[in-house]
Amino acid sequence: MGQLSLEHITKEFGDGENHVVAVDDLNIDIEDGEFLILVGPSGCGKSTTLRMIAGLEPPTKGDIVLNGTPVTQRKPKDRNMAMVFQSYALYPHMTARENMSFGLKMTTEMPAKEIDERVKNASRLMGIEDLLEKKPGELSGGQQQRVALGRAIVRDPEVFLMDEPLSNLDAKLRTTMRTELQDLQQDLDVTTIYVTHDQTEAMTMGDRIAILNDGELQQIGTPAECYQEPANQFVAGFIGSPSMNFFDTTLGDGALSTDDFTVTLPESVKAELSGHDSEFVLGIRPEEILSGDEAVDHPDSFSIEVNVVEPLGDVTYLYTEFGGSEVTISVDRNTEINPGDQVTVALPAAEIHVFDRDTGNALV
Ligand code: ATP
Repeated sequence: MGQLSLEHITKEFGDGENHVVAVDDLNIDIEDGEFLILVGPSGCGKSTTLRMIAGLEPPTKGDIVLNGTPVTQRKPKDRNMAMVFQSYALYPHMTARENMSFGLKMTTEMPAKEIDERVKNASRLMGIEDLLEKKPGELSGGQQQRVALGRAIVRDPEVFLMDEPLSNLDAKLRTTMRTELQDLQQDLDVTTIYVTHDQTEAMTMGDRIAILNDGELQQIGTPAECYQEPANQFVAGFIGSPSMNFFDTTLGDGALSTDDFTVTLPESVKAELSGHDSEFVLGIRPEEILSGDEAVDHPDSFSIEVNVVEPLGDVTYLYTEFGGSEVTISVDRNTEINPGDQVTVALPAAEIHVFDRDTGNALV
């Protein structure tokens, strides 16, 4: 069992001018066996949150509750959680086998035979049976991370805490390990909290993602929910690559407009926006902007000049500027558009997101 709740978790550092609220009143319930990704930009409080859960940092306020019991005052070794670090944190003078068994030897009365058995099982799971007598210096980064994961597994914890465990690996290995970790998490069915700033990891690995900014929870939901229904402009801009395009627009005559374009709104959206000021931020993802033949018959179509064309193999991005913003448009890889070309585009009303210009909260 590993049902974990963060209740009003807050962490402040420093005084006076140096005062920082690193984590601000965080409330999250994590289900038993769930894979939760904590994601956000540098400095948003991800690592501090994980360190508080692990017991490496006391919260200023709030409680960490495991299976209904507060563990906030418990030492890290008494929480039944295992942490995996970005830097692997292996003891350099010990072999892989010793690294994996050391924690159990030091903190439990477990018989040596059972420890050996656990190391054997974990090393089989991680595919490192042949590396057990080697020291970290003799292992590649990927192999070291496998040992670090094996060390977490042998402890048979109720919760795995992972702090950017793949970020020191090269891109190809990272992709392989991402899938392996997902499979492993499913097989072991252990509650896992995984910190990353990499949004591909966030979108592909977890059951749910919790998005933090400035120490505050912005949204928690499945990757699809956060992508399709971002709670605010921050989430909309953070989730999805390339980022959503944003425009400052004015509501009038049933449409949202800039000097360059108009998006005629359906009745439902008009109703949603009535009662607000007339200024809104309109958001649309690069892949939702119609271009070329798809756009010519659209009643709100208009013409733009393409500045840069970036073919990436499976997709091509057009970079341009209109409505007072820099804009990215995603088009078919076989496009024959060149820099300097005029292209007809349209922003379909069904695909737009509308945000309050003051609060950034999503309205549509
Ligand atoms: P990154 O992705 O860069 O690791 P993060 O999201 O993990 O960032 P944290 O390391 O949790 O962010 O830091 C959150 C905030 O708290 C930052 O403003 C950071 O400077 C501050 N902070 C973290 N640890 C300390 C500390 N020991 N003393 C003072 N301030 C700290």
